[in-house]
Amino acid sequence: MTVAAILADKGHDTVTASESDTIAAVCRRLAEYKIGAVVIAGADGALSGILSERDIVRACAAHGAEALHSTAGQLMTRAVVTVTPDDTIATVMERMTAGRFRHLPVIKDGKLAGVISIGDVVKHRIAQAEQEAAEMRTYIASA
Ligand code: AMP
Repeated sequence: MTVAAILADKGHDTVTASESDTIAAVCRRLAEYKIGAVVIAGADGALSGILSERDIVRACAAHGAEALHSTAGQLMTRAVVTVTPDDTIATVMERMTAGRFRHLPVIKDGKLAGVISIGDVVKHRIAQAEQEAAEMRTYIASA
C-alpha cells in the first residue's frame, strides 16, 4: 500500500498556518479540525515547517501562558521530513519511528499534496489485517 492510496481515501486537504500566526491561533485551528499538527506554509504555499501539539506543550511547560503569544515561526520544526505519494506505508512507518514524530507532509512535484498521520497508518494497517484474515477464512472454508 502506498501513500497515494491513503490520500485517495482520506483526501488531500491540508490544514496550514503561517509563521506569523500566534500559538493561540494555532491552538484554535488544531481544536477546530481535531488534529495534532499544522503544516507551516510560506506566502507561495511552500512548506516552511511543521508545528505539533508537542511543540506547544513544551513551550507551555517552559513559559506558561506566555507561550500562547509566541508565533508559529518561533516554535515550529524547520527541518521537515516528508514523503512522496509513491512511498510505501513501510517507509512512512520507518520515518515516523526514526524521527519519533507522528505526522508526515506529502510532497508531490515540489508542492504540498497532503499529510499522513500515525492514525491514518494504524487505520490502514487494521483494514489490511482484517482483509487478510477474511481471505484466509475463505481459503480455509473452500479447502
Ligand atoms: P508529533 O509526534 O508529530 O506531534 O511531533 C513531535 C515533534 O516532531 C514536534 O517537535 C514536531 O514539530 C516534530 N515533527 C512532527 N512531524 C515532523 C516531520 N514530518 N518532520 C520533522 N519534524 C516533525
